[in-house]
Amino acid sequence: MNPPCPKRRQASPFLGSKNVTPHFEKVRQLLRQLPGLGHRSAERLALFLLVEKPEKLQPIIEALEQASKVVHRCARCGSLTETDLCEVCADVKRESHSLCIVEQVPDLMAIERSQAHRGTYHVLHGRLSPINGVGPDNLNLNSLEKRLQTEPITEVVLALGNDIEAEATCHYLHELILGIQPKMKVSRIGFGLPSGSGLTFADVATLRSALEGRRNVGT
Ligand SMILES: [Zn+2]
Repeated sequence: MNPPCPKRRQASPFLGSKNVTPHFEKVRQLLRQLPGLGHRSAERLALFLLVEKPEKLQPIIEALEQASKVVHRCARCGSLTETDLCEVCADVKRESHSLCIVEQVPDLMAIERSQAHRGTYHVLHGRLSPINGVGPDNLNLNSLEKRLQTEPITEVVLALGNDIEAEATCHYLHELILGIQPKMKVSRIGFGLPSGSGLTFADVATLRSALEGRRNVGT
């Protein structure tokens, strides 16, 4: 009687954990926890830094260590800074009556590149997402409420994307803002942005037209 045919091992596109060292595996697992990195990208990055270009590793480690000590959120708007206030908040030439609310710091940077907004910003650091357990308490809203109460803001531009979670977040923000300042002019960008996409990767012309084509919320 013939022995049972051994199962052919499926060729894996990734390095199996048996093929790598425990330390490599640990690096791969940690990198995989970073946003935007799947299994394959984490593996590629680990190989690049540890084997292919190890000379790149130390400068990255040092830069991360130094940055982690000095980079933090702006006390006013939530953007990145190494002092109390970020560059925009510290600039007295910015139009303090116009506030643009964005989800993330890269969105702020994208709008800054478009030069279409001369006012200040507020960074939410996320958006409402019940599925992912993100509620109002998880967003940078306390300082927003304080700003609406104390700063001479007359116009708020909601510069969020146009998917369902962004829609829900805009609706929440609209209610919140009018609850504090009932006469506030609240508008929202939307025109020009492709459906389902965020702001970060939009080109300058698209972002500019989106900002220029903002519409009042609730109309
Ligand atoms: Zn700031």
